[in-house]
This record gives sequence, C-alpha cells and structure tokens, in this order.
Amino acid sequence: MIKPIRNIGFYFILIILTPILFFIAKEIYSLSENEAVLETIYKNQMETLLFSVNQYSEDLVRSWGMKLEIWNNDVSPSNSEINYKSKKLFEANPAIRSIFFADTSLSNIRLDYNKDKILMNRNSQEIKSILENNYLLIKKLRVYKKNNFTKFEPVSSRTSPQIQILLFMLGDKNICGMFIDKQKFVRENLSSKLQSISLDEFIVSVYDSQNDKNIYSTSNSIQKEFVQKGNLWLIPSYSLGISVQGKNLNDILRNRTYSGIILISVLAIMVLFAARYGYKNIKQELELAQIKNEFVSNVSHELRTPLALINMFAETLYLGRVKSDEKRNEYYGIIQQETERLSKIVNKILNFSKIEAGKWKYNFSVQDLNELTGKIFLNYKFHLENKGFTFTFIPEEKILEADLDTEAISEALVNLIDNAVKYSDERKNIEIRTGCDSNSVFVEVEDKGIGISNDDQRRIFEKFYRAQSGNIHNTKGTGLGLTLVKHIIDAHKGKINLISVLNKGSIFRLTIPVIKKS
Ligand code: ADP
Repeated sequence: MIKPIRNIGFYFILIILTPILFFIAKEIYSLSENEAVLETIYKNQMETLLFSVNQYSEDLVRSWGMKLEIWNNDVSPSNSEINYKSKKLFEANPAIRSIFFADTSLSNIRLDYNKDKILMNRNSQEIKSILENNYLLIKKLRVYKKNNFTKFEPVSSRTSPQIQILLFMLGDKNICGMFIDKQKFVRENLSSKLQSISLDEFIVSVYDSQNDKNIYSTSNSIQKEFVQKGNLWLIPSYSLGISVQGKNLNDILRNRTYSGIILISVLAIMVLFAARYGYKNIKQELELAQIKNEFVSNVSHELRTPLALINMFAETLYLGRVKSDEKRNEYYGIIQQETERLSKIVNKILNFSKIEAGKWKYNFSVQDLNELTGKIFLNYKFHLENKGFTFTFIPEEKILEADLDTEAISEALVNLIDNAVKYSDERKNIEIRTGCDSNSVFVEVEDKGIGISNDDQRRIFEKFYRAQSGNIHNTKGTGLGLTLVKHIIDAHKGKINLISVLNKGSIFRLTIPVIKKS
C-alpha cells in the first residue's frame, strides 16, 4: 500500500509541480530581464529630457542671432537703429553681457554693447586676438553658413571664466560674437525650461563640471548623484544632471524586484500547499479503497462462518441424524445463535448505509439512561457470564433523564459491549457505569482487554478503520461499530471520551447533555 502511494506522490510532483516550479523560475529570471529593459527605457527617457534642454538653449540663442541678422540686413552696422534694437535685446536678456561684429578680414571690429565695461577691459584688440586664435573655427562657421546653416560655437574667454563667448556668422561676411554670462543664462533663460521638464518626478540640476559646484537645481536639495548626465552644448564647462524625485531609480527597481519575488514566493507556497493537499487527498482515497477491500473480505468472512454453521446443523437435523433430544436442542440453539449473529452484522451494515445516506431518523424523548442501561445489562448478563466474563453494572443512584433516542443509544451501547467482549484477552472483566453532573449524563463501558495505542485512538472512529495492533486477525469485525456510535452521539450533541492503555484495557464514555427545563 505504501509503495503505490509513494509512486503516486512521485508522479504527482513530476506532473504538476515540475512545470509550476519551472514557470516560477522562469518568472524570476524574466523579472530581472524586465528590470534591465526598464532601466534602459528609463535612462533613454532621461537622455531625451537632457537633449530637449540643449535643443531649447540652442533655439533661444538662434532666435537672438536671427534678430541680429535681420537688423544687420536692414541697415548698415554703423546705423544707430541697430544700436537701439540690440540695446533692447540686451536689456531683455541680462545674460548677454556684450556683443561684437567683425568683418572676415578682421579689419573692422566693433563692440556694440558692453554691460561690463568697468569690470572687463574689452576692446577691439582683445576681440581680434580671440578671433585670430579661432581662425579654423571661423572657417568652419563660414562653410556652414554657405550651406545655409548658422552654427553657434562656444569659445572660452581667457580673461573672464564666468563668460562664455558664442561665435556665429552674421550673413556671409560678418562674424558676430556674444559674451554670455554663464550663470545668468542658466538661471534666467533656462530655469523655466528645466522646471517644466522636471515635473514632480525628476530633479534637474546644472553644475560646473570642473568643481562640481551647483549652478541651478529644480529642487531645493542639492543633488550629487545623477541617473543621467550630459554636457550643456553651448556652455561646455557646465553639465546637466537628472535624478529621480524621492526614491531613486535603483530603489524603485529594487522595490519592484522585492515585490515580484514576494508575489512569486506566495504563489510558490500556495502551490506547495495545494500540492500537499492534493497528495493528502489522493493518499486518503487510496487508503479508503484499501480499507474498503479489507472490509469486503472481513464481512464475507463474517457472513460465511455463521452461514456454514447454520447450513451444517440444519442439514444434520433435517436428515434426522440426531438421535437424542439433548443434542437436537443444542443444535437448534447453535442455529439460533448464529442467525442472531448474522442479523447483527446485516443490521450494522444497513444502519451504517442509512447513516451514510442521511436516512437514519432519530426519535428523541425524555428517558432514564439508568433504566435503559439496566435493560441492556440484563440482556447480556447471562450470555457473558456463560462465556466466562465478570460483568457488572454500577448505576448512578439518581434518575438520569435526558432527551434520548432509546433505540440509537441501545445500538451504541451494544456496540461498546460487543467490542469490550471482542477485545478482551485473558482478563474477562467488563464493567458498565452510569453517572451525571449538573449538565450531562453518561454511561461508560470498561474492559481489561488489549487496549488501543495512541495512534489508533485517533482513527478508530473513522469508517472501516480497524486497529492494526492486538488480536485484530483473530477477532472479526467490520470497522463500522464505532463509526455508528460516534454518529449516534453526535446526533445527541454529546461526546465520546476514550481512555485506553495498551494491554491494560479501555474505557469508552458516552456523555449526553441534559436539556434543562426552564
Ligand atoms: P470492529 O468491527 O473492527 O470492532 P469498530 O468500529 O467497533 O470495528 O472498532 C474499530 C477498532 O477499534 C477495532 O477494530 C479495534 O481495533 C478497536 N477497538 C474498539 N473497541 C475496542 C476495545 N474495547 N478494546 C480494544 N480495541 C478496541
């Protein structure tokens, strides 16, 4: 029996658990893959945001350049009109500190507007040297311009590090340069763009990449660690950094992984529980099937023995082979005894099937448990004493009234007495006692028989169950008696208590609650 169950357990694990465990392992693996994909997407998204900041600043500077170009085309650079208009542009954008125009031969250099006149000694000579030093760059700008593209090239100022010079072509022949205050440009021209892309999700910061000094941040708290970094195209000494508001990306991913793993673990535990439950059920079914087989063979055996005896003695009598009246009476007695035994077995099985089908009808009425037990005792006394038993009844002195189905309680009691007889060994002592307390009445049957092991005590009330120890093979039984007793006591809302010690004996007590009259 154990081996097939083990085999089933093995196949069960193979067929059901293996694919599920594979699935769980795959899920854990794909979880980390997903995290990696997510991280890449996230980083790409941030890169796009940084790109948009650069694009914005270039568009802004381009719009300034275009204005200057239009004015330059309209009038000659020396016209006072251009001075007036560019003055307005400077005033609206404090980041533009000064601007110069030069022809490509560098012979005509004009500083148009200089807000830092006092601070910086900006003159034609200085500008000329800047232009000369960036000769190749200017050549490139001219090529771009020829192809209709105005490119802005950042050039650093040796004399004032806080200034970024932006060179570009104004028409074919004029070079223009803007002196931009780096910090002002970031704080006044870029801040609104930075705020708009940061939303509530990100913190965008601009910092000086040479000394890590924070120039501007969309949050009050200064960030040092960024998920993504990039240069500011027009101010190469400045960098842009982006980080996630509150938790950083790693925290979010870690949380996601944890919750994923927790979810999968819960799933795995549930699967294991379900598998265990399934295995237990299959095991129980197999055991029941086995027990039923034993039951059929037990019952067949129980029926065959009395039938064979009845057949033998009836035939002997029928053929007139028994001469003496004494013998004849003895044989009649045996036939009667065996018939009784047969009908007991059949009744037990019929009662059990009635109970299983829910067709057993109880008829409750107020009865005295003492009186009922006394009657059964008397019925059994002669028979048991004949078999060599000491059979006693110690009744409670009081009347033990309770709501009882007398037929059912008699059946339960008879079953207990039958068992006490069956499972008594050499010490043939059976005692019945009744008693009560304020809430209940009880009857108990004690024997000095083979007793029941602790393990079996838990199972003997299950249908068809027969304890494997003791003299089970010598005693006949169906494994239904105690199931009937339990059902009957349950119907009376009572309980069964069992005290049993192997090789010492057992006490079965049936307790039935008393319905108090109000
Ligand atoms: P059975 O027809 O086998 O007696 P029961 O349901 O009446 O079936 O009892 C179930 C099992 O409980 C028995 O097979 C026996 O092993 C054990 N048992 C019941 N009563 C006693 C007892 N008084 N002493 C020892 N074992 C008992």
